[in-house]
Amino acid sequence: MSGASIEFRCLRCGECCRRLLIGSRLIRKGLPLFPDERGLFPGGLIKPGVGIGHPDKPDFRVISYQMTEMVCPHLDEGSCGIWEARPVVCRTYPYMPVITQGGYVTKEASLECTSLMMEAARRHGVFKIDEGSLEGELRALEKLSRITVEAVENLDEAWFYDLRGERWIRFERLRP
Ligand code: SF4
Ligand code: SF4
Repeated sequence: MSGASIEFRCLRCGECCRRLLIGSRLIRKGLPLFPDERGLFPGGLIKPGVGIGHPDKPDFRVISYQMTEMVCPHLDEGSCGIWEARPVVCRTYPYMPVITQGGYVTKEASLECTSLMMEAARRHGVFKIDEGSLEGELRALEKLSRITVEAVENLDEAWFYDLRGERWIRFERLRP
């Protein structure tokens, strides 16, 4: 991407907290959580996310979980009700980890973010983000990416939990 460099400014619009379920033909996924972040949400809203091994075997290791709701229960009139304690994934946005066709884990900025959408409209889609304005987000992204990296590094043994079918799906089937 080329063009003007913009400083990212979160508008605190809460839109990213209203679209937490993402999906494809094969899988529906919720807000990813590290195991020690499960307590941030009511237990009934938590499902496993990524596991390593085989789901039927006793040594199957769940390395992340997910929150099952489209709209975050902590969203309160557009603001986060647990801002100081919010999970790592909420600190990475608008960045998200993505897997390339070659199997590398990299980052992508979501153009569904209201702030970036407005910049895109203002600059006819041609701009780049000054990463200095996103240091905190990039630090959080590095941490969040560890889950994806571990799945990629254990390709033959990695599974994702599908919220639509309530079942584990082999990660290999989901690769781009
Ligand atoms: S959608 Fe973008 S601008 Fe709005 S709260 Fe989320 S990160 Fe901030
Ligand atoms: S925890 Fe806060 S920042 Fe994260 S999705 Fe919920 S309301 Fe948004």
